[in-house]
Amino acid sequence: MLNFTVGPVMSNKEVLRIGGEQTPYFRNDEFSQVMFENEKLMKEFVCADEDSRAVFITGSGTAAMEATVMNVFNEKDNVLIVNGGGFGQRFVDLCNLHNIPNDEIKLDFGQNITEEILDKYDSKDYTAFLVNICETSSCVYYDLDLISEFCTRNNIFLVVDAISSFLANPLNMARQNIGVVITGSQKALACPPGISIIVLAPEALKRVENNQCKSMYLDLNDMLKNGERGQTPFTPAVTILLQINARLNEIKNQGGVEAEIMRISNLADDFREKVKDLPLEIHLENLGNCVTGVYCINSHAGDIVYALKKDYGIWVNPNGGEVGEKMFRVGHIGDLTIEDNDKLIEAFKDLEKRGILK
Ligand SMILES: *Cc1c(COP(=O)(O)O)cnc(C)c1O
Repeated sequence: MLNFTVGPVMSNKEVLRIGGEQTPYFRNDEFSQVMFENEKLMKEFVCADEDSRAVFITGSGTAAMEATVMNVFNEKDNVLIVNGGGFGQRFVDLCNLHNIPNDEIKLDFGQNITEEILDKYDSKDYTAFLVNICETSSCVYYDLDLISEFCTRNNIFLVVDAISSFLANPLNMARQNIGVVITGSQKALACPPGISIIVLAPEALKRVENNQCKSMYLDLNDMLKNGERGQTPFTPAVTILLQINARLNEIKNQGGVEAEIMRISNLADDFREKVKDLPLEIHLENLGNCVTGVYCINSHAGDIVYALKKDYGIWVNPNGGEVGEKMFRVGHIGDLTIEDNDKLIEAFKDLEKRGILK
């Protein structure tokens, strides 16, 4: 199997090896040391302030999105949400569910955020801004500097869902004045799904401390308090936390976060270059490095996704909704190489020869 979906992605041998071991007991100093290191490396990799904190939630990315909405905001906030697809809509739904006043910047599928769009929201009374910096459903990667400048000049608290773009595109919490960064285990961290991560800047910690959270499992104050001794309130996905530890250390030892971003960016560029000779289109101008939206010219995208899996053992990511007839997605995160790209391109060429890719 060769997996080019955007998550869960392929894990390397070491991560798989740890997954095959017995789960160790975790209420001890040994595990606490692992968690301290996880927190330290996560903070380092997103360039967080020294006084920031990171928490590890047992749950998929959406658990961290919901915990953020519930713990960082309250009914006195007025949140502006970028809604350019499935994940933006999820933030809107979460704010509505938890009675957080909000407005959305509704974008068309594939549309980018521009200066002109943001200008319209200047000097309103928004207190916070929520964005999925890569809207993984459409593959659009928004301009984080543009958003960060908008938030800074309007004194708005910025939350970035970087679940799919952490380790694929750079991000600097301190310099870009980001209050909260969210990510998860099954994207570029290339571990199994089950852990989501929230990094909180000092301003976010203040918000959480002064807020009342009506959830036991997603109470960030409880997680932060337990985190001070390298523990979690309840039994976490211990094995995934050990796998994350191995991955974070591997990245650190292989040149750090910049080198990992470069590796993923090279894979994305390589694929986007090689796909040019095929009857497929990509819209290059607003893509991040983690995933490429591929548009079929004369074939049904579903047929291509199906044939790749059935005849070549290669998985790409189908798209839901109307666009799913024309578009599928190819991820560049996980344990993939240039040779893997070549295998995918060869499969496309073969499909063309067979008259399936037209
Ligand atoms: C994958 C992803 C999520 C998380 O989804 P889960 O299925 O809950 O892990 C959230 N936001 C973005 C942008 C994503 O790519």
